[in-house]
Amino acid sequence: MRDLIIIGSGPAGLSAAVYAKRAGLDVLVIEKDPVSGGQILITYEVDNYLGLPGINGFDMGMKFREHADKLGAEFAEGTVTAIETVDPGSDSKAPTFKVITDNGEYETKTIILATGASHNKLGIKGEEEFTGKGVSYCATCDGAFFRNKVAVVNGGGDVAVEDAIFLARGCSKVYLVHRRNELRAAKILQDELLSLPNVELVWDSIVEEVKGDAKVSSITVKNVKTDEKKEIETDALFVAIGIHPLTEAFTGLAEMDETGYIIAGEDGATSTPGIFVAGDSRKKRLRQIVTAVADGANAVTAVQDFLVGK
Ligand code: FAD
Repeated sequence: MRDLIIIGSGPAGLSAAVYAKRAGLDVLVIEKDPVSGGQILITYEVDNYLGLPGINGFDMGMKFREHADKLGAEFAEGTVTAIETVDPGSDSKAPTFKVITDNGEYETKTIILATGASHNKLGIKGEEEFTGKGVSYCATCDGAFFRNKVAVVNGGGDVAVEDAIFLARGCSKVYLVHRRNELRAAKILQDELLSLPNVELVWDSIVEEVKGDAKVSSITVKNVKTDEKKEIETDALFVAIGIHPLTEAFTGLAEMDETGYIIAGEDGATSTPGIFVAGDSRKKRLRQIVTAVADGANAVTAVQDFLVGK
């Protein structure tokens, strides 16, 4: 019986592992992928993490994992498919948990869910090939690489419009491609967007293909009303059509919002005592490495309080 099982070894899970080892907890980290690091592994360059400007995402993931290894954190490979609550019996205070993976089962007193989130993809030709070479899912993260260049944002909600406004501050030109003829974003955001001289809206259109050589050089868009196709020369395509948390396996275990984000405050405590959440799968405003790392540390502090019955 472990004190703590952490599910996921992205920035949140690895930060939690470091704090748990330093707190002397008997902790196991379960990760489905062969390499730790989570989403940052596919990030070419991270330029907004304090003290490590311009670090390659893969190198950062390795550094985070090395830190946890150095403190003796134990790792197991496997995809967690379910968590069962184990009846505490008459003399025990709190229920314990059985974590079921495709590679074995583990028992624990507490759990930190740190399974992160994944950006929705367009599923079009060239998207995967040019990810990290002009195709991005995060304007806050990658926008600065396209200063004085042309960028296209695809989407019509708050995030897409915020991304276009953010990019317009540094890019020479920003196109916003949206499949409808009106935006879903808040009116105040729309007004700001429409006031920007270097933003052009491409209505009723979808992105069909990303083209380039070593990097993105253009995209093909299709007007869904007329079927007319055109090329837009661009250095970047920011896909902002939503993200989804990887929390399906935990449905019914802890309270979630309608899109599957687990509801918890800064301490990560979910609606189920003993189950905590950290990182991108928590319902929160800003999903970044720095907030994931902070979540991991906060969740371990809450786990410690829980274990001593505070
Ligand atoms: P993740 O990084 O998603 O890690 C979750 C881990 O859980 C993964 O390793 C996954 O394999 C594992 N997992 C999931 N489900 C299971 C399961 N059922 N069983 C076992 N393991 C499981 N942020 C910045 O601050 N700066 C940037 O420059 C930046 N650039 C980005 C660029 C891109 C392309 C992307 C996609 C994101 C970027 N981000 C950036 C966001 C940042 O990567 C995330 O906020 C951060 O990785 C979240 O950490 P996390 O640990 O919560 O989740």
